[in-house]
Amino acid sequence: MSRYAYVNGQYLPLSVAGVHVEDRGYQFADGVYEVVAVANGHAIDEEAHLARLDYSLKEMSLAWPVSKAALKHILKRMVALNRLTNGLLYLQITRGVSRRDHGFPKPGVPPALVVTAKNMKPVSPELLEKGVAVVTMPDLRWKRCDIKSVSLLPNILAKQAAKDMGAYEAWLLDDKGYVTEGSSTNAWIVTDKGEIVTRPLGAPILAGVTRRAILALAKEAGLKPVERPFKPAEALKAKEAFLTSATSWALPITRIDGKPVGDGKPGPMTLRLRALYAQAVEKGL
Ligand code: PMP
Repeated sequence: MSRYAYVNGQYLPLSVAGVHVEDRGYQFADGVYEVVAVANGHAIDEEAHLARLDYSLKEMSLAWPVSKAALKHILKRMVALNRLTNGLLYLQITRGVSRRDHGFPKPGVPPALVVTAKNMKPVSPELLEKGVAVVTMPDLRWKRCDIKSVSLLPNILAKQAAKDMGAYEAWLLDDKGYVTEGSSTNAWIVTDKGEIVTRPLGAPILAGVTRRAILALAKEAGLKPVERPFKPAEALKAKEAFLTSATSWALPITRIDGKPVGDGKPGPMTLRLRALYAQAVEKGL
């Protein structure tokens, strides 16, 4: 199947789609992005992703490249052009094209917008049955991880280090040894009191759209979500651990640094939250 990309006003076959070599995203990672999961041709929680995009743009003093309504139209068109049923939309906005200089370009240089689409298989039953492993390592990122910047070097290095150790994800630790989040996911535990714990929002983590939805669904179901930091030692004593992201939903973690979490099997609370999320998606979240 040929795939299409949207590049600054044009829908182009992916094989010929490209940006200028002096795009500031390419030279400085001067841009922001979103990953929106698509299920049954529908962009999941699109409004929440666009609200976070608006936040990232404001924090970077970047303007919207097109109106929100136009962006929604582009996303819809990309779903149709790519015949996307289950997969993801990637959208990236950079500070446009100008001669390389650290300072912002002169006013009038428009931000650049690129959208790509990717088909994805659902999370494999095996992964859900076994759960995934995470390994902990220092969080080497900057102090504004609340901005969804395309500058992802420490995240990439952490993910690869985890992969090299046979793990699915890296849990990043702040200077005090608390888990901030995963390299591309939010981090959670379930305590023996049934508390569903995740780190509060703030500069050290990304405000995950899935995190937000899971917190709301947990509250609605009368469960006990608690926003506070936790350390790997507490996670290893917890009943369950899991991660969330737009493409993983809620995914059980069964090993941390080679040691089992709880009984070493995916926990019932994680699977319940995943089911609640699946129901919400089915209803058109
Ligand atoms: N933290 C980081 C660092 C991420 O890159 C992501 C994925 N975008 C998440 C958390 C999860 O966020 P979301 O639920 O919006 O995918």
